[in-house]
Amino acid sequence: MSTTPTQESLTARYRDALLPVFGTPQRVLVRGQGAHVWDADGTQYLDLLAGIAVNALGHAHPAVTGAVSEQLATLGHISNFFTSPAQIELAEQLLHLAGAPAGSGVFFANSGSEANEAAVKIARRTGRGRILALENSFHGRTLGSLALTWKEAYRTPFEPLPGGVEFLPAGDVAALEQALTDGEVAALIAEPIQGEAGVRPLDGEYLRAARRLTREHGALLILDEVQTGVGRTGHWFAHQAVEGLQPDVMTLAKGLGGGYPIGAVIAYGPAVHDLLQPGQHGTTFGGNPPAAAAALAVLRTLHEEHLLEHAASLGEQIAREVMALGHPLITGVRGAGLLRGIELAAPIGPRVVTAALEQGFIINATGPTTLRLAPPLIITAEQLATFTAALPALLDAATEGGH
Ligand SMILES: *Cc1c(COP(=O)(O)O)cnc(C)c1O
Repeated sequence: MSTTPTQESLTARYRDALLPVFGTPQRVLVRGQGAHVWDADGTQYLDLLAGIAVNALGHAHPAVTGAVSEQLATLGHISNFFTSPAQIELAEQLLHLAGAPAGSGVFFANSGSEANEAAVKIARRTGRGRILALENSFHGRTLGSLALTWKEAYRTPFEPLPGGVEFLPAGDVAALEQALTDGEVAALIAEPIQGEAGVRPLDGEYLRAARRLTREHGALLILDEVQTGVGRTGHWFAHQAVEGLQPDVMTLAKGLGGGYPIGAVIAYGPAVHDLLQPGQHGTTFGGNPPAAAAALAVLRTLHEEHLLEHAASLGEQIAREVMALGHPLITGVRGAGLLRGIELAAPIGPRVVTAALEQGFIINATGPTTLRLAPPLIITAEQLATFTAALPALLDAATEGGH
């Protein structure tokens, strides 16, 4: 038997071989099962981040591994000159779950950024020049999706970016109405819950007003559900918490493939459907058979195992239990279902993440004062409770670490 490389040696090789955009990885992971992963030194972690809201069914779920391996062994990649039963079935199911009207359609991509790129191209096809995005938004890192992303540190080094984008304060109906009046706005893009901004839900009333105003002024409402979609918030799509709300375009990725890369764009209704004409957009890999098979397995399992209801009730549980700790450093819990932000009274988020890792929990900090939890939807109440029980000590460890 050859000796297994240690984390230390692998991390050194990582530094020598990969671009430093992610900094030094926290651990080298070698295996995952359910809600757990193991590092190269054999340490086990409870994964409360799920690859950033991606591994909806946890790690190595037999429904996903089975569907992907069977599909790969039958027919792997084919290009979009051809289609496959899996791709067609997945598009039909997404339209059904989205409640999209007759005449709607789906485009498959490989990631959230790419799905948003396609959404922007749809918006450009309205012939109007302006696109509205919200302050604190995150829509991705490709140039088009980056242009829609609020954080200047992400945008400035790459200017000039595609133009025409304006940022509005989230939740401000008057500012939105004002921005829409000249009739030159192609679209408003928004996340129902701003994930990277620290799990900040948009108000249902704001979403309703956004729907009404964009419709009145002939602009598209694009909802970026890349992080919030596919069951994570206890609904198939987070905007479905607002009765009757229907966007013109919805983008998906992260949880859709359960860890297998796939993104999707849903165009609602015939008018939006027809904006992108044959030849105006494309992709080599998007919606290929293994990716479509993975997503079908995810959708089927979420349904069969009642995981939306599970996400909703566990989400309530963790919010309640974290607040019940009565810890002075915890000032609130935001979000819905199993997408949660824990607000801290001090800027110790990154140190809590490190302390958590040392105690065998994977979480993340979206900023200095916000911890984000986005565990696999298959996590159990008992597993979540181990984190809540450990949290006070993690906060204390992080506070001491600062002095
Ligand atoms: C992660 C994310 C994206 C970008 O997705 P990638 O797959 O990383 O390109 C876009 N929008 C939202 C809301 C996201 O959370």
